[in-house]
Amino acid sequence: MKRWVVALGGLVVAACVSGGPPNEHLSSFEARRTRMVDEQIRARGIRNPRVLDAMARVPRHEFVPESARPLAYADQPLSIGYGQTISQPYIVAYMTELLDPQPANRVLEIGTGSGYQAAILAELVSEVYSIEIVEELATSARETLKRLGYTNVNVRAGDGYQGWPEAAPFDRIILTAAPPSIPQALVDQLAVGGILIAPVGPVMGVQTITIVRRSVEGVTTEETIPVQFVPMVRG
Ligand code: SAH
Repeated sequence: MKRWVVALGGLVVAACVSGGPPNEHLSSFEARRTRMVDEQIRARGIRNPRVLDAMARVPRHEFVPESARPLAYADQPLSIGYGQTISQPYIVAYMTELLDPQPANRVLEIGTGSGYQAAILAELVSEVYSIEIVEELATSARETLKRLGYTNVNVRAGDGYQGWPEAAPFDRIILTAAPPSIPQALVDQLAVGGILIAPVGPVMGVQTITIVRRSVEGVTTEETIPVQFVPMVRG
């Protein structure tokens, strides 16, 4: 019995010095993610099971800077450098649910940031196109997504106001930076039957989540909740 305990102790020490992430940390991230989904997302009324599953699967801690990892599953936005933030988990889930993502959809995201929202979308649709104006963020998001095995996300460094005309039309478009009004070029790149979700409003102040639906009859808009996003800057 005593020898067995010593051997076990040896194993634990070996695990600690092996250099890989200790298993106890991995499982605690997973446990925190499960709690995040239960307490921050399901408890606030998000019901789409595919969205809840995606939020439970994507390792959010991989998308935040090392120093912010302890807070990766906290109920708040986090700084990702360059004056930008990864949105609060609930807001990501809320906007994703409004987008009503379908498995065959092709989706355009404006504001790649860390790549987290793009990864959530990649779990839910067939192809994601994401544009980021800060070149360094585009590069690091592309690397993170590749490292985690997402092969259906295309990241481009550029100005989201122009959209991605070569890949249009899109079934769904999501803006994660706030323009003062809905950019017409993006509405033009929305397929008939498509949905666009955006925080819309002034740079300094409260914006409103806005749903744009395009049908054969034309375009309708609906406003939902007040939010605060970083501005969508002019390229
Ligand atoms: N979706 C991101 C968070 C986005 S923060 C995530 O999951 O982490 C908003 C991002 O929009 C920032 O990275 C900012 O640089 C970018 N952005 C601002 N204006 C833009 C524009 N005109 N075109 C593309 N990206 C823009």
